[in-house]
Amino acid sequence: MESTKFLLGEGDVPKAWYNIVADLPVPPAAVLHPGTRQPIGPADLAPLFPMELIKQEVSTEREIEIPKPVRDVYRMWRPTPLYRARRLEAALDTPARIYYKYEGTSPAGSHKPNTAVAQAFYNKQEGVRRLATETGAGQWGSALALACRLFGLDCTVYMVRVSYDQKPYRKLMMQTWGADVLSSPTDRTHAGRAILERTPDSPGSLGIAISEAVEDAATHDDTKYSLGSVLNHVMLHQTVIGLEARRQMEMAGDAPDVVIGCVGGGSNFSGLMFPFMPEKFKGSGTRFVAVEPEACPTLTRGDYLYDFGDTAATTPLVKMYTLGHTFVPPGIHAGGLRYHGDAPLLCLLYHHKYVEAVAYQQRTVFDAALQFARTEGIIPAPEAAHAIRKAIDEALEAKKEGRPRTILLGLSGHGHFDMAAYEAHLAGRLEDFAYPEDAIKTAMRELAVLQP
Ligand SMILES: *Cc1c(COP(=O)(O)O)cnc(C)c1O
Repeated sequence: MESTKFLLGEGDVPKAWYNIVADLPVPPAAVLHPGTRQPIGPADLAPLFPMELIKQEVSTEREIEIPKPVRDVYRMWRPTPLYRARRLEAALDTPARIYYKYEGTSPAGSHKPNTAVAQAFYNKQEGVRRLATETGAGQWGSALALACRLFGLDCTVYMVRVSYDQKPYRKLMMQTWGADVLSSPTDRTHAGRAILERTPDSPGSLGIAISEAVEDAATHDDTKYSLGSVLNHVMLHQTVIGLEARRQMEMAGDAPDVVIGCVGGGSNFSGLMFPFMPEKFKGSGTRFVAVEPEACPTLTRGDYLYDFGDTAATTPLVKMYTLGHTFVPPGIHAGGLRYHGDAPLLCLLYHHKYVEAVAYQQRTVFDAALQFARTEGIIPAPEAAHAIRKAIDEALEAKKEGRPRTILLGLSGHGHFDMAAYEAHLAGRLEDFAYPEDAIKTAMRELAVLQP
């Protein structure tokens, strides 16, 4: 009998995260203080993050032990399954073998709890009482709400007002887990009040919500801030995905020719691919492909420059592919893929051509999502459907060549809270949108003054 699922036992939850910094062929660029333009130190980050996470942010150790209480929480849903997409393969009539690592089995429905749980643990260990964060559509907020609940922390989520009003279900998920969810801009912070004075009916934005959450943490001794992607320690925590996937591919007696993931800030894709990178650094032919929306083409059309992490231009400067921190995300349905930059570690690998990137329009992405749901059964998150689109295209190429190809894709979450997007697609109301070249050129000119 040919296997469809490759399952590890609870005892196989990884005991250490993999830190790719130990193996990088080129050192990462320094993170700069926005005022002095000098490299920042731990003291600069201490008001926002617990010391253990700051240490991980700059660590060069190859393996970082996963604390037992974190592994105990991981065991609630990890190891996650690796599937062979036999029904999709049959529908495509392809000689390619398609595998997918499914992170939708977590209680929040995505990969995000892998880091939320670790972050909540280290904060609790260092005596923090409350975490503050921002969320757009709510994937990150719900992951952190869950993690805080499990470690006995309070959780305040600044949720962008339009999402708060229009997407009530993830808000209710966060509230179910006991988080305090605020419609941002609020009147609780200087940043929020300043916006409300000028624009009382402001719909909010991720940038405003970040400013509010950061201010909340910086002005309360018992409160820290938490970020769900982009930072090195987030990529580190997500490597449990790839560490498990490596073993599962061995169980399947196979090895990937191409590894594919969708990229918003880069955490699920990095988590899947980093553990496969040591062989790549030694010259293996495995390809790694990042997939992003044409509406937010950070890697494929942005430049590799120093930029702020937030719209309000308050964070340290990091070197990354960016569309400029003034980027206004178009209203596409993959809410998790609309960040103006990407994780510096992923950008470094892309810059040095260890990773490729491709961008797709949302209609073809949703076509792929439907084909996947109608063959494999799982309704994918719109974000994850970007990776599915590329996997299907790779499988069709293999068919044209008449040669097998082993494809591993990251299925970062399910789409049960995204049915409004499916509704729009099924009704033929989804529109394609490519980010205008003019806007990119203007943003790049503005960034010139920030370069050291
Ligand atoms: C948030 C999210 C993403 C994008 O974030 P990354 O940091 O790039 O992984 C992708 N898929 C799902 C399901 C998400 O919730």
